[in-house]
Amino acid sequence: MFKYDDSFYQSKFDYYRKVSFYSALLTVLMQTTYFFTDCQIFGRFAAETFIPRFSVLLPAVILVIVDRWIKDYRVGAFLYYLFPHFAMWATIWAIWYLPNRDFAREGFVIMHFAFLAVGLAMPLKYHLLAHGILFINIMLSNLWIHYETYDLMMTLATPLYIGCVLVLFVLQRSYKDHYSTLQQIEKESVTDQLTGVYNRNVLHDIISEGSRTINMTGSEGVVILMMDIDKFKDVNDTYGHEAGDTILKLFVSKITDAIKDTDYLVRWGGEEFVVFLMNSSIKDGMAVAEKIRYDVEHAENDVCPVTVSIGVHEYHGGDYHNAIRKADIALYYAKENGRNMVVLDTDIPSVK
Ligand code: GH3
Ligand code: MG
Ligand code: MG
Repeated sequence: MFKYDDSFYQSKFDYYRKVSFYSALLTVLMQTTYFFTDCQIFGRFAAETFIPRFSVLLPAVILVIVDRWIKDYRVGAFLYYLFPHFAMWATIWAIWYLPNRDFAREGFVIMHFAFLAVGLAMPLKYHLLAHGILFINIMLSNLWIHYETYDLMMTLATPLYIGCVLVLFVLQRSYKDHYSTLQQIEKESVTDQLTGVYNRNVLHDIISEGSRTINMTGSEGVVILMMDIDKFKDVNDTYGHEAGDTILKLFVSKITDAIKDTDYLVRWGGEEFVVFLMNSSIKDGMAVAEKIRYDVEHAENDVCPVTVSIGVHEYHGGDYHNAIRKADIALYYAKENGRNMVVLDTDIPSVK
């Protein structure tokens, strides 16, 4: 079942925001051009409506300036929808001075298209409200302005409102398909085909942007386990590559059982795997490593018994390459000292 969650709405906003931004901007700028029709209505320079019509330039400038700081779709929705409303208020202000208010009808109709365009990047549920408030603008202003064609305006606007909502409903549905495909591609790009665990591309998710530092969650550090199946080449040579693949999957299932959902298991290459135990103490990290080592050694399988060697490093910040290198050194120390064991890098005399 598809979930319309924050990440969906954020993605939709990021994809369409330029359309909504320029629509909001054009809607306010368009108001200035109505000054010329005001002059036609008056048959002279319409000094009265000059300030109302050009007052929209202020919100237009504000929109251009603040746009670069808008990241969250909720903030974007609030601001972008505010601008056609500004345009509406400025129009109402100008109409107040007009001797002939017949044209308010056309202006009101045009306004719906502005809302349609701005709504492209927004959640449909927000649109229902933001666009709906347009009617309240007219109802309230009618108390003072008394539009000649108020009933007509409302009758014309209602199907337009429903039409805009339906168009946006269809567009949101089609964005849903686009979003699902994107998510699928994203997932596949970080997943190892054979074992279903992450591949190295997932590092982009756990390394802070613009640095080589692993994101630390919580108060504890990250414990890195570098693992390599012992004498795996012999398994392949003796029982065949397919049997080797079965062992790899079994190995992965043992690791998955021992770690939390918030940890990362990455196929580093071949039969080497790295686990990032997020927000873990070294004591807990060593216990997890030992559990994996024990479970692999005692796992029943149809091919042959296997063991694993594990190098451990406790990470507290800094370049992750360096941290992985230290876990790797610990792993090779384990390999050189009998295999089927867990080694913490700081326990090796040469690495401090
Ligand atoms: P050591 O205990 O020193 O790690 O010995 P080893 O034989 O495991 O060492 P080595 O790293 O040289 O061998 C790794 C083997 O893993 C070689 C390669 O054929 C095998 N291998 C790598 N990827 C796969 C895979 O996807 N499937 C299978 N079946 N084998 C793989
Ligand atoms: Mg090996
Ligand atoms: Mg290897």
